[in-house]
Amino acid sequence: MHDPDCIFCKIVRGEIPADVVYEDEDVLAFKDISPQAKIHTLIIPKVHIASLNELEDEHITLGGKLLKTAAKVAKLHGIDESGYRTVINTNADSGQVVFHVHVHVMGGQPLRKMG
Ligand code: 5GP
Ligand code: ZN
Repeated sequence: MHDPDCIFCKIVRGEIPADVVYEDEDVLAFKDISPQAKIHTLIIPKVHIASLNELEDEHITLGGKLLKTAAKVAKLHGIDESGYRTVINTNADSGQVVFHVHVHVMGGQPLRKMG
């Protein structure tokens, strides 16, 4: 369920402080320590799943909940109407550095167009 060396599992366990935006029995949302936009929050499952590649069939409901929570967090931040970007990085080429799956929610300003 938890990886003792995973920094986000430590946040779930309260061993590392985080600026929590939203929490329920399945997910935790907290502000990114190094924000890339005026608003930059991360949403994680409370169980340790290293990346999208490790998301199993049993996690499908949880995966949907992560996305639903991204929208909820955007509303809490007051950026649901102005807009926001959701990003999930997976493995080296994406730049994933924390191997506990997380959804980035970024907004509060116009973001550079991708692609
Ligand atoms: P990745 O590149 O893996 O998709 O994104 C990891 C994100 O986690 C980065 O944006 C980084 O700033 C953030 N981060 C890394 N360590 C911590 C931490 O201890 N606390 C918080 N709040 N964010 C962290
Ligand atoms: Zn973890």
